[in-house]
Parts: sequence; structure tokens; C-alpha cells
Amino acid sequence: MKQFILGHEPVIRFSFFLGILILMAIWELLARRRPLTVSKPSRWYSNLGFAFIDTLALRLLLPTQAVGVALYIGKHGWGILNNVTLPGWAGIVLGILGLDLVIYLQHAMFHAIPSFWRLHRVHHTDLDFDVTTGIRFHPIEIFLSMGIKMAAVMVLGASAISVILFEVLLNATSMFNHGNVRLPVRIDRVLRFLVVTPDMHRVHHSVVIQEHNSNFGFNLPWWDRLLGTYQNQPARGHESMTIGLSQFREPKRLTLPWLLILPFFGKPGKYPFNA
Ligand SMILES: [Zn+2]
Ligand SMILES: [Zn+2]
Repeated sequence: MKQFILGHEPVIRFSFFLGILILMAIWELLARRRPLTVSKPSRWYSNLGFAFIDTLALRLLLPTQAVGVALYIGKHGWGILNNVTLPGWAGIVLGILGLDLVIYLQHAMFHAIPSFWRLHRVHHTDLDFDVTTGIRFHPIEIFLSMGIKMAAVMVLGASAISVILFEVLLNATSMFNHGNVRLPVRIDRVLRFLVVTPDMHRVHHSVVIQEHNSNFGFNLPWWDRLLGTYQNQPARGHESMTIGLSQFREPKRLTLPWLLILPFFGKPGKYPFNA
């Protein structure tokens, strides 16, 4: 099994990506949470364009990615988990938990430091919130994030299997929790103890600064609750809240070419923690 997963990593990841994208897109058509405010084809073109550019750039420039680091340190016995005796499954679970905490902290950092925020605001300029928002990230943010992930794998001693599972899980939950889908309130309330739900993450895309600087989790909801960044609901409700950033409201300035250069122009805006 382990050999199969390692040997087919790109195919496995792409199949999950495509399968979940299609499922979420159908769910959005059947049970939409909010009406869309701007052209869906133009947003999807930009957001899928980012997924394509990010994947291609990473595969070309860092082909082995964090999995390569995990294999290398595994061989040399580096990192915490490679130096403690644990059942195989416990090592995998701890590897995934550790990486998830690092991604939460990294997300908060991308909001806190103005020059990092310039990159991450591309994700937040989406004027609607749907499955494709979950794959809208500037390629430089993706590279920085991969560097942080590689360093985390090295320190944690995460195994290659836990890294692949984590990447698949993160991609899947990111597309799920950006879904423009309606979930019964009671199910959402229970589910958000286990995973970040669309209603939980939508608060993070609010134009209101206090709501925007909350709910940084992508995968597990526990870090927000433990570290005091959890916000239950948006003040204006999910259907009336405004999505995006106050200084970027013009759809014609939010197409793929504009978004690629967006980090390098203008002021960081009033959203970073310390602005
Ligand atoms: Zn964010
Ligand atoms: Zn988001």
C-alpha cells in the first residue's frame, strides 16, 4: 500500500482534486448558500488558472516537494518523529496534526506581516466565495508555503505517507470549506468540532476586519478555538455579509493578469494585524 501511494502520488492527488471539485460544484448548483455577485466564468477562469500555474510551477521547480524531504530525512533518521518509538498509525496522525498546526500558524502570519499579506490578499480579493476560492493562491505564496512545509517536515520528522495524506486532506478540506453550499445549522454545529465548515471559513472572507482576522484554520477547527481566533458567525449573517476586501471591489481589475501583479502595487491596506 505504502509503495503504491508513493509511486502514484501525482495521480492520487490530481484524482482527489478533480473528484472533489466536481462534487462540490454539483453541490453548489443543488444547494447554494449565497447568490453570486459577479460573473462565475470569469472568476472560475482566474481561480482555476491559479491552480494550474501553481501546480505547474511547483512540479517544475520543486519536483519532489515536501514528500522528497520526508523520504530524505526518513533515510537519515532526522526529525522528532523519526527518533521516538511509536506505532505506525500514531506517527502518521501526529505528523498530520503537526503539519496542520504549522499551516494554521503560517496562515495567521500571512495576515500579520504586511509584505506577506500583499501575497495572501490575492486569495481574499475574490468577491464571491465558492469551491474555486479554495484554490486561488498567488504562486509566490505557494512557494513560501512549500518552503515552510518542508522545514516543518524536517523538524517534525513527518513520514512521506503522512505528508501525502496531509496534502490530499488539505486540498480536499480547502475546497470543501470554501463551498458556496448550504448545510443544515445542526449538522454544521456538530461538524465544525471536527473540520472547518464552509460557514466557519466564510467568516474569514468577510470585508469586516475583526471577522476577517479570525478562523485561520483550513483543516482542523481546534487551533482557532484553542488559540483564541475563533469567530462563530458573521454579524450580518451569511447571506447579507460582504465578501472580499474593501479596497478591491472592481471585477475588471480582478482578472488573472491583474491578480498576478497585485502583490507588487499599492499599499498593503488596513487588514494586517499591526496596520
Ligand atoms: Zn486568509
Ligand atoms: Zn479562504
